[in-house]
Amino acid sequence: MANHTLILPVIQNWSCHNCGGCCREHLIEITDAEKKRIEDQKWTTADGTPADRPLIQQIGRGRYRLAHQDDGACVFLDSNGLCRIHAKFGEPAKPLACRVYPYAFHPISGNLTISLRFSCPSVVQNLGQRVVEQKPDLLQLAKLITADSQKSFEPPAIHGNQKVDWADIQEFLTAFDEELSDDSVNFATRLMRILTWLELVEQSTFDKVRGNRLKEYLGVLTKASRKAQPDNDLPVLKPSRIGRILFRMLVAQLLRHDTEATARGGLSTRFGLLRAGLKFTFAIGRVPKFQESVSVTKVFGGSTDSKQSPRFADLESPYNGRTNEIDRLMTRYFRVKIQGLHFCGAANFDWNLVDGFRSLALMYPATLYIARLRASRQQRPQLELSDVQAALATLDHNYAYSPATGSASALQRIRILARLQQVTALCGWYTQ
Ligand code: SF4
Repeated sequence: MANHTLILPVIQNWSCHNCGGCCREHLIEITDAEKKRIEDQKWTTADGTPADRPLIQQIGRGRYRLAHQDDGACVFLDSNGLCRIHAKFGEPAKPLACRVYPYAFHPISGNLTISLRFSCPSVVQNLGQRVVEQKPDLLQLAKLITADSQKSFEPPAIHGNQKVDWADIQEFLTAFDEELSDDSVNFATRLMRILTWLELVEQSTFDKVRGNRLKEYLGVLTKASRKAQPDNDLPVLKPSRIGRILFRMLVAQLLRHDTEATARGGLSTRFGLLRAGLKFTFAIGRVPKFQESVSVTKVFGGSTDSKQSPRFADLESPYNGRTNEIDRLMTRYFRVKIQGLHFCGAANFDWNLVDGFRSLALMYPATLYIARLRASRQQRPQLELSDVQAALATLDHNYAYSPATGSASALQRIRILARLQQVTALCGWYTQ
């Protein structure tokens, strides 16, 4: 990939606001060249780096990462939330992984499409410069990311062994995007329409449905789903017991926050996490406390300070998750992930398009569920936008990244939920 055409999200802004969250929550593995560069920078305690530990830690044979301080911060993070490498030697001197976050580059048809990670509070709040205006910098990063890559990427399957070429994948992305942009109905309705027509896609073969025929086919599906669901009057079905168990299992995995500090906590911390995961899955007693990310706590405030955590049953009451501002946030999130191909294929454990879209769809009820938890802990009967922003930033940290959410059992869970019609039931239920 010598010359890159970048496909950028036009609806997203971002600039770093130095909350320091990503420098605490991500373990940065470095290449040999980056290790040498940092060693050549000749850091001493006079620069403020810790005296009691090496700055680079070995994590396996020939593998290294930046070390962390006792409070979980990267050894190069200063007390003002700024990177010492950046301050002393400039942005290009940092490891590539630090430079790229919160962007995510994904290959599409010989080009690169860009998505963003909503775990960054500035992304979730849409703060800063328009992404399209950052194109020159992003082109530089794209060159570095693909410098040694000779690999050509296959398009994701549609479902099973049904494959099409990149141009046809793009038709699907366009159809998703157009449906999600239809603001004549609310977000939940748009999502339900896509989930409905994906059921038909899953029963179709695509050997002869390519190019214009595929376009026509998607047009017919879109029209039919709009006719079947012309307005916001969605039927609300309570998810089944099994649906809720599988859903909470997913939420527990998305919530799990393994950081340097967790790793240092040892066996007791790990057992604590396991116990909390089981309580969550089977809805036993009150919702257990979970470790919130530093950036979420810093920007939106912590939610686990209240003395009494709610009972799981309390989270089943309506919390009004259908306000226009919540809809706008979720629309932006979905459109960035879809345009950036950040839900299937290489970006999401090589899952096919249908499974990948369903995994993304489940982020909607999962986010509203954790937003309900935040509101309930603060004794509020209704969601505020900041509840949903904080919940989305918390969960998107793991979406498409945590190996647990990409395991064979996680995929199986999504397929069972879809087969039992529970993906749509969950989306409808927690939006109330
Ligand atoms: S989480 Fe976002 S705003 Fe905070 S330091 Fe990282 S990039 Fe900057």
